[in-house]
Amino acid sequence: MNIGIIGGGWSGFAAAVELARAAHPVTVYEAGRVLGGRARRMGGSPEASGGPSFDNGQHILAGAYSETLRLMETVSSGSSTSGFLRLPLALDYPDGVRIRAPRLPAPLHLAAALLFARGLTLAEKISAIRFMQALKRIGFAPDTDMSVAEALAGQPTAVRRYLWESICVAALNTPIEQASFRVFARVLQDALTGKAANSDFLIPAQDLSALFPEPAAAWLERNGGKVKTRTRISSLQRSGQQWKVLWDDGEAVHDRIVIATAPAHAIDLLSPLNDCRELVRNLDTLSYQPILTVYADYPALPAFPTPLIGWVDPVPLFIFDMRASRGLANTIAVVASAEGPHLDWDDARWINEIDARMQQAFGPLPPPRLIRRVTEKRATFTCAPGMFRPSLTTPCQDLFLAGDYVAGPYPATIEGAVRSGVQCAQTLLATP
Ligand SMILES: Cc1cc2nc3c(=O)[nH]c(=O)nc-3n(C[C@H](O)[C@H](O)[C@H](O)COP(=O)(O)OP(=O)(O)OC[C@H]3O[C@@H](n4cnc5c(N)ncnc54)[C@H](O)[C@@H]3O)c2cc1C
Repeated sequence: MNIGIIGGGWSGFAAAVELARAAHPVTVYEAGRVLGGRARRMGGSPEASGGPSFDNGQHILAGAYSETLRLMETVSSGSSTSGFLRLPLALDYPDGVRIRAPRLPAPLHLAAALLFARGLTLAEKISAIRFMQALKRIGFAPDTDMSVAEALAGQPTAVRRYLWESICVAALNTPIEQASFRVFARVLQDALTGKAANSDFLIPAQDLSALFPEPAAAWLERNGGKVKTRTRISSLQRSGQQWKVLWDDGEAVHDRIVIATAPAHAIDLLSPLNDCRELVRNLDTLSYQPILTVYADYPALPAFPTPLIGWVDPVPLFIFDMRASRGLANTIAVVASAEGPHLDWDDARWINEIDARMQQAFGPLPPPRLIRRVTEKRATFTCAPGMFRPSLTTPCQDLFLAGDYVAGPYPATIEGAVRSGVQCAQTLLATP
């Protein structure tokens, strides 16, 4: 089978690597110049620009991202974890609360993290433990879905805001009032149960394209595959028993096609196909959430208590020490997930907001210099109860979908994208 994959993001390369491992010739078509989609380096390669490279948004992965780590190992010669700064779970808020997991076997690491948390009363800690126990009793699989805010109704404010809301907004990129409790429960199950290392934070130590998409492209080319960048597929046409893909100045035919794009781009490709009308109507019901990253630097940056510190007011916001993760002198990345009033802040307001928080954490400092502000308006789908998620197969023969939004228990994350790519390859290979 000769397979065309439209989209050179993490899901597209996950599918491509799995298909090439089964000895099928694969071509990946990527519209952009840089591989990686919504998790990529901005601009050219660091060697070409001569300066540090920044991503389209600061990402954080988790020790529980097992499929991502497995595929990274497949395509690179070294260990997958060498690409990351690995930290035990730590939620460190300079305004008081500090939750840190010690290096103990699970579940002792979590029990200790909660019991020794700073800034929470004993009653608040017990409430958090009870919430986890209640989830464990139902196997982390609520019968009916509801919003995370509804599910947290009995939780004290401090536990809700500093623990659950922060995790929910970071993982689901959706405000708790809209977020799916079922998906949230699954995230907690994966990150907080099983091995203690599952809850580790993995902060990329390289740019995101260099972490997986580029080594995957090189591996693919060594294994009989092709990667075509700057090739936006404009349409798909059935041609006998095959699919024809067309772009600006070329075309090719494939026996099978995987559309591994974000949902909005999948809609563009599927809309002209009669059999996919209902699928397109359903995809049109998806809504999206932004993620905003500000990169800034200081003349001299003080030592951080841990490479990642956070605030909850007025919106959950995290500051990463890029010196620790990427070796970038005196540079920070500030991330605000999901919708909120911060989307209206201009550069001057951001400098003030960052300045105030950094001074709260470290005492007097000169104001930061803003390097770059990146807003990804459609970073992820809104992960709401009952939202439509398509299956890997489509009503059209030999046409498959992969991507963080296809059916699965995960929110829109790198691991969700990679798993969908792997499952898509398995489904494609099993379909006559
Ligand atoms: C700012 C930001 C921060 C994030 N933070 C995190 C995080 O901390 N942790 C985490 O796990 N996840 C995070 N995510 C989510 C994660 O990046 C995505 O879930 C994941 O990258 C989606 O991968 P994908 O392959 O499904 O889709 P995409 O990355 O969207 O890949 C699709 C690719 O298809 C290409 N394409 C589209 N149309 C065509 C066409 N017609 N022809 C050819 N190519 C086409 C696009 O250019 C793109 O490269 C974040 C996302 C953003 C935007």
